[in-house]
Amino acid sequence: MHRMPDSNQFKLAGVMGMPIIQSRSPIIHNHWIGVHQLKAAYGHLPVQIDQVEAAVRGLAALGMAGCNITLPHKVKAMTLMDHLSPMAQRVGAINCIVVQADGSLHGHNHDGYGYIQSLKDEKPDWRADTGPITILGAGGAARAVIFSLIDAGARDIRLLNRSRDKAEQLAALNPSLVQVHEWSERHAALGGAAMLVNTTSQGMYDQAALDLQLDDLPLSAMVSDLIYVPLETPLVKAAKARGHMALNGLGMLLNQAVPAFEAWFGIKPVIDAVLRQKILATFN
Ligand code: NAP
Repeated sequence: MHRMPDSNQFKLAGVMGMPIIQSRSPIIHNHWIGVHQLKAAYGHLPVQIDQVEAAVRGLAALGMAGCNITLPHKVKAMTLMDHLSPMAQRVGAINCIVVQADGSLHGHNHDGYGYIQSLKDEKPDWRADTGPITILGAGGAARAVIFSLIDAGARDIRLLNRSRDKAEQLAALNPSLVQVHEWSERHAALGGAAMLVNTTSQGMYDQAALDLQLDDLPLSAMVSDLIYVPLETPLVKAAKARGHMALNGLGMLLNQAVPAFEAWFGIKPVIDAVLRQKILATFN
């Protein structure tokens, strides 16, 4: 039996992964800890993949409030949870652990929540059901994005992935709402779309640009790239040049942190201008 933490206890949380030093999550959470003058801290937790079990099981013993989990630890950590949220079960990966008062571990996946909230932040009247949504990629991030778009009301999703079998597996979970197209048809799959979402890693700072011609995409369509390093991928740049509303993945990163902070520290934090400025400053 674990000791109940008393309310005056210094609270610790962090982000677990390897490599992890590049993570901006400590800036986000420590900003909110400062805003609310909490006796708490949030740090980087560099943990090798073969040490994930020992580290996760040690969270309660250390008296930690919980932690975020990033690649490549998201799937392994999920298997160690005592309880999983419905979204974590659907996505098949967790990005947040909340240590309960009795020491048990609850696993959550807030990526989808963060994604939808980031769209609403930029376009308050955004709706998921205004037309087809073309999604490129079928990895872990795509799973969270697709389920949250469906929950938000999306009724017509075109899914394309380089490895078609992964797209087929994902579409099979919602066959009436998600249609798979060949990767080679990605340019034409933009025709009539209300939204284009890039969930592939193409366009990241260390990757080639996404090979995509935007000619068929209606100018009214919103373009959303999950990548935020760089802040402006070649896709976002090209979309802006055509006049599209085009968003990067920074809003998703910031918004997924909100429910985690609330679960650990009991306060729903606000993504204020100072926080955005602190994060943007890390890109200089
Ligand atoms: P993942 O599970 O490894 O999936 C990678 C995806 O990219 C797969 O669909 C993969 O296709 C595709 N891909 C890789 N190389 C490609 C290429 N040369 N041509 C075409 N497609 C290619 O990774 P993930 O966790 O889903 O992350 C994907 C992206 O989302 C990353 O850039 C990540 O930074 C971003 N992300 C952002 C946030 C945020 O908070 N903003 C959160 C999570 C992820 P195959 O299946 O064919 O390999």
